[in-house]
Amino acid sequence: RKEKTAQGVRGGAASGSFGGRPKKSLGQNFLTDPNVARRIVASLGVEPGDAVLEIGPGRGALTGFLMVSGAGRVMALEKDRDLAPELPLRFPGLCVVNADAMRFAWDRLDRLPRVRVVGNLPYNVASPIMWDLAWLAQRFARAVFMVQLEVAERIVAVPRTGDYGGLSVWLQSFVTPAKLFKVGPNVFTPRPKVDSAVVAFTPRPVSERPREPGRLARFIKRIFSMRRKQLGRILGADLTPGAGDFLESQGLSPRCRPEELTPGQILLLMNAMGDA
Ligand code: SAM
Repeated sequence: RKEKTAQGVRGGAASGSFGGRPKKSLGQNFLTDPNVARRIVASLGVEPGDAVLEIGPGRGALTGFLMVSGAGRVMALEKDRDLAPELPLRFPGLCVVNADAMRFAWDRLDRLPRVRVVGNLPYNVASPIMWDLAWLAQRFARAVFMVQLEVAERIVAVPRTGDYGGLSVWLQSFVTPAKLFKVGPNVFTPRPKVDSAVVAFTPRPVSERPREPGRLARFIKRIFSMRRKQLGRILGADLTPGAGDFLESQGLSPRCRPEELTPGQILLLMNAMGDA
């Protein structure tokens, strides 16, 4: 263990060989191309004094650039018990929390003035991590993530397309997402079987965000669990006359399918249903 640390420190961050063998269970595909890392960090738009939170720093491919980005403070959340203690040795000043982003109490970020969130997210947990972070969009200035290309397509998907679903509606209710660029498998070690893409999230204005996020999450899951069915059949008696009137006002009918509604229409439909 000691030997590994010493070797790693001597090699410096660029050698990127610390923390033992990459762990498949933690979705460890480490980025090896500094140009891609630099591009990701540049797209985060760090301003002097900002706090930055990196999810899954791994061997620090992005972290090195974050440390010289002008951020007032850089924090990282790393689940790997081997990597977490080594990161502050390589990046003095970096605050590393050895924790699972899936269980992290995001309200701990409350004390920070403005946070930018970044991560080359592990493929297996990227969607749930982004789902949870959306609740807290008001605390973020901007977020930039690398995810599997297919997930990126779902995030930015528009109604009436095959990729449009619960994840698109939920995230777009809180943030405006943009697909920035595609990344091939050759810039990672080990090489993943899929393509990746970088997506950026800009929080929506507070006035446009859902007031009852818990209820909206349940509603989205309910209607998209049966996305091919007609809304009238999915909602049954819960499709109140008020909700029917709302659909009509939008040029829609109870025979339409959930995937035909924009995130804004889904929110308004839920509100029109009253307490149903
Ligand atoms: N940022 C590094 C890079 O670009 O090379 C590593 C990216 S690798 C795809 C994902 C990283 O997330 C790994 O370091 C892994 O240990 C970490 N990780 C996996 N699951 C996690 C979780 N639930 N919470 C926090 N970190 C996690």
